[in-house]
Amino acid sequence: MKEKPINITANRPALEMSIEWGDGHKSIYPFSLLRAACPCAQCRGGHENMSSEPDPAVFAVELEDSPSTRLSNVKATGSYGITLVWEDGHDYGIYNWHYLRALCPCPTCRRRQ
Ligand SMILES: [Zn+2]
Ligand SMILES: [Zn+2]
Repeated sequence: MKEKPINITANRPALEMSIEWGDGHKSIYPFSLLRAACPCAQCRGGHENMSSEPDPAVFAVELEDSPSTRLSNVKATGSYGITLVWEDGHDYGIYNWHYLRALCPCPTCRRRQ
């Protein structure tokens, strides 16, 4: 299965999280993008807006550096994804592998959308 990471690294000084995927692809996510794309019901505005694909609008969102965009912890959530914990205490977002791969901001992945 290609949509499975072999390595996840949070680079706090650079405000980026990177994922190396099983197929060799590498994704680098700015923390602000991950927070803007938080898939939880609260951030998406209700369960009915939750989706397995990121809302394309999140790529245009620019969030100011603040506790809400600073990643404090990455927790494994079963074998299907991770929970991101933010410095403002928000930890509702479960990012599964499919969602994270679809969220890859690199030019190659964005062109494919
Ligand atoms: Zn959220
Ligand atoms: Zn990519």
